Amino acid sequence: SEKRLVNVNALAEEYLQVAYQGKRIKDKLFNAKLTTEFTPDLNEIEVVPQELGQVLLNLYNNAFDAVNEKTRQQGNAYQPQVWVSTYLEKNKLKLVVKDNGTGIPAEILNKIYQPFFTTKPAGQGTGLGLFLTYDIITKGHGGEVNVRTEAGSYTEFMISLPYSPPIS
Ligand code: ADP
Ligand code: MG
Repeated sequence: SEKRLVNVNALAEEYLQVAYQGKRIKDKLFNAKLTTEFTPDLNEIEVVPQELGQVLLNLYNNAFDAVNEKTRQQGNAYQPQVWVSTYLEKNKLKLVVKDNGTGIPAEILNKIYQPFFTTKPAGQGTGLGLFLTYDIITKGHGGEVNVRTEAGSYTEFMISLPYSPPIS
């Protein structure tokens, strides 16, 4: 597919609603506090909308799965939360998806981008989401994917995309 000029804030918000509603349909009890903070005055950038949408859906679904699993472990005292934000740094647009779910154990952190690597029950994970995310962002869009995580505590994925500030 083709690159188009896209407002990444709008795409991130739109897919967040799609992912959240989708999750709620499959799991009526699912709930998580969603917090968004989008950088104002963002210029549109050239992306393949369906591909960036696929990346967003996967990051959101991974975050929802992680908070769901922690709810299962910890029960109702735990407040599941997902944060989505964008900000500008030099010539980069950063998109961050953070959750306070299970975190990723250090022993598996080097495997998460491998195709078919999943820790989810059979039928619930293909293990292709982060593999495709990495491919789409790095090869397809000249960007970067980074993760920070602490087992039992949180996970934060950061997507960096090339960004040209407005010429004034
Ligand atoms: P899938 O979601 O189908 O398992 P992914 O490639 O999206 O495949 O993710 C691979 C694995 O990385 C997951 O099975 C999980 O173990 C880990 N992972 C990814 N995102 C998170 C997250 N937000 N919190 C905890 N673990 C995660
Ligand atoms: Mg996934």
